[in-house]
Amino acid sequence: MAQANDNVDQAEISKFEELASRWWDPGSEFKPLHDINPLRLGYIDARAPLEGRRVIDVGCGGGLLSEGMAALGAEVTGIDMGEAPLSVARLHQHESGVAVDYQLKTAEQMAAEQPAAYSVCTCMEMLEHVPEPASVIRACAELVTPGGDVFFSTINRNPKAYLLAIVGAEYVLRLLPRGTHEYARFIRPSELERWARVAGLRLQELTGMSYNPLTARYRLERNVDVNYLAWFKKAD
Ligand code: SAH
Repeated sequence: MAQANDNVDQAEISKFEELASRWWDPGSEFKPLHDINPLRLGYIDARAPLEGRRVIDVGCGGGLLSEGMAALGAEVTGIDMGEAPLSVARLHQHESGVAVDYQLKTAEQMAAEQPAAYSVCTCMEMLEHVPEPASVIRACAELVTPGGDVFFSTINRNPKAYLLAIVGAEYVLRLLPRGTHEYARFIRPSELERWARVAGLRLQELTGMSYNPLTARYRLERNVDVNYLAWFKKAD
């Protein structure tokens, strides 16, 4: 039987640990996450109103989304396998005055310890850094109660996504450090939907997130060719 920690790529964790001190600097390597944060927060809150909900944020990093959800009244637990991002997240909540429970754990470990303990699970920009995304998706499904909401975001896999998310973002516009993303780990919506369906999740909606280099702004749109959000509900 595989250990839960087998589904962690240490090299990927190290990438984020090295940058972690700049996590809350909106001009840093994390600028894209700062820029998309209000969009995804609004997206989640419109579909699964966060006030009073128990939420688990899987691969929470420095806590941008976790804090945002807590500020909207959710009771948030944030988990990540990077020590440095978690330290940054724990310090930052004192500065902003919101409370999030941050823990060094994988989704698989948490699902074994606390099955069906949450009503919402978010897992953003993380699946494309994990050896076996299907296993994380299964764990996310296990973490929520029947009828609960699960949100993922990741990057599609096709030539346009390669051109925009890797060549464009890492080499031309330099929004992200080179080597942030590996093309082979990008996930097609059909793959995400299939893995989620097997885990008992039903797709509600797919929404694209696109970057306009001329206005330097992100927006939500129908087109899911590159970055996208997916909303699922766990079957009753
Ligand atoms: N979800 C956050 C951070 C995205 S960066 C946001 O969107 O703002 C990706 C995060 O996933 C990093 O913090 C990294 O440490 C974490 N991560 C990568 N593999 C992981 C794993 N197997 N288990 C838990 N966290 C993981």
